Amino acid sequence: MFDVLIIGGGVIGCSVAKYLSEYQLKIGLLEKASDVCELTSKANSGIVHSGIDAHPGSLKATLNLQGNQMMESFCKELDVPFIRNGSLILCFEESDYPDLLRLYDQGVKNEVPGIKILNQEELLQLEPNLNPHVYAGILAPSGGIVDPFKLTLMQAEVASTNGVSFFLQTTVFYIQKKQDYFQVETSKGVFQAKLIVNAAGIYADEFNNQVSNHILKIIPRKGEYCLFDKQVGSLVKHTIFQLPTPLGKGVVVTPTTDGNLLLGPTAYDILDKEDISTTVEGLKFVVEKGKKTIKEVPMSFVITAFAGLRATEANGDFILGESQDVPNFFNAAGMESPGLSAAPAIGVYLGNQITTKLRAKKKDHFVTRNKSVVDFDKLSLTEKARYIENDHDFGQIVCRCELVTLAQIKEAIHRPLGATTIDGIKRRTRAGSGRCQGGFCSPRILDILSKELHKDPKEIAKSSEQSTYLVGLDKELL
Ligand SMILES: Cc1cc2nc3c(=O)[nH]c(=O)nc-3n(C[C@H](O)[C@H](O)[C@H](O)COP(=O)(O)OP(=O)(O)OC[C@H]3O[C@@H](n4cnc5c(N)ncnc54)[C@H](O)[C@@H]3O)c2cc1C
Repeated sequence: MFDVLIIGGGVIGCSVAKYLSEYQLKIGLLEKASDVCELTSKANSGIVHSGIDAHPGSLKATLNLQGNQMMESFCKELDVPFIRNGSLILCFEESDYPDLLRLYDQGVKNEVPGIKILNQEELLQLEPNLNPHVYAGILAPSGGIVDPFKLTLMQAEVASTNGVSFFLQTTVFYIQKKQDYFQVETSKGVFQAKLIVNAAGIYADEFNNQVSNHILKIIPRKGEYCLFDKQVGSLVKHTIFQLPTPLGKGVVVTPTTDGNLLLGPTAYDILDKEDISTTVEGLKFVVEKGKKTIKEVPMSFVITAFAGLRATEANGDFILGESQDVPNFFNAAGMESPGLSAAPAIGVYLGNQITTKLRAKKKDHFVTRNKSVVDFDKLSLTEKARYIENDHDFGQIVCRCELVTLAQIKEAIHRPLGATTIDGIKRRTRAGSGRCQGGFCSPRILDILSKELHKDPKEIAKSSEQSTYLVGLDKELL
């Protein structure tokens, strides 16, 4: 019997797991994918929002601001890339200026620090590549960018080191409330727990509705993106928004913490919770919107496109806390934006409620810090030489675009919750994230994974079990 079972290994489930792992509790995390950070937490803008556009008094506003304030020290402790690059929200017509002022007033109400209105000249001085016809904008210096993969992974690793059991490739089918515990049917058998945390992202409504009469309905709202090569990563320094729309924060132009440029997302509701395809219309839309923000969209530098699904619930706010009619069933539902920004604060918010409910005591010993796989590309020449001298695997470059070495890939495999897939390696080391998008290094990484994990190369997958690359040797097939 577990004290706590968390459903979902996204940034929210992992935040809660990290927080609870400091307490004397038996905790399990059930995740249907082969790794953590496989759904919405891997496909978003990576922005740590300032909190201007959240409705004053909402959980979104409160936790966004708290998360934003916590993010710098939180990321330092966990060795997660975070840059407080500031954000700009632009309007392009005089007629939109009253809307910009309303947004500014909302930011003041939300106590977003340091915001100010800038005119055209001030904006162009800050960002020379903006559309010169920009009319005015709001500068929010507290806005930032974070690596969403590492934010999720590093928390999961700390939780795992502190004793949380991660059950990957474990799909939850059904939760049943018994007298004083929950029975959870999964693809790997039946689990029992005193308390459930439902952090299943776009599927959180389904688990809530299995036990509660307060029915939730999550509609997936798709967001499509174009990602650009690092060569144009410094086209803008800030994260640049246009005025928000009823469907969300609109199309953004932003640098990423890895030095790429990101453009997107779209925002439209769909029916299929598995549909993360990109579309010609979607990508055309973001490019057109991007052209309004910056002088020129550098289309010849696009290296990939991707899409993510927001977990939109009609209520409009995060649904966080114990269910009104099911004691010990805790929801983290409707976690659309700013879920990533708020994640560290949500871990504390839910974690506090749960430890109080279970009267849990802190452990005597636990870790709070983490160190990610060394970024060889960022080392100085002297440091590189020292690393190679100590371990010759640092002298073998596997991913040429991102300069990722054999030593880094081996470390990614053998860490706590180590990578077992090509995408798992990519998220821990960036191998395959560069210009060729794994065209050159994927076969090599597949080979390394198969050797290090002692697995048949045919079993090595891109991400899910169904995404294997190989069917056999050429000669065998002949
Ligand atoms: C296009 C887009 C842009 C965004 N941009 C930003 C941004 O810039 N800043 C920001 O703050 N927020 C942003 N967000 C929101 C942010 O990404 C989310 O709030 C956050 O990632 C939600 O995390 P999660 O853990 O709730 O969900 P997920 O990451 O989806 O995790 C849920 C997990 O549950 C697992 N699961 C589901 N069903 C089952 C089952 N039956 N059994 C076992 N496991 C299951 C899934 O596999 C998944 O891993 C954006 C979202 C989108 C879609």
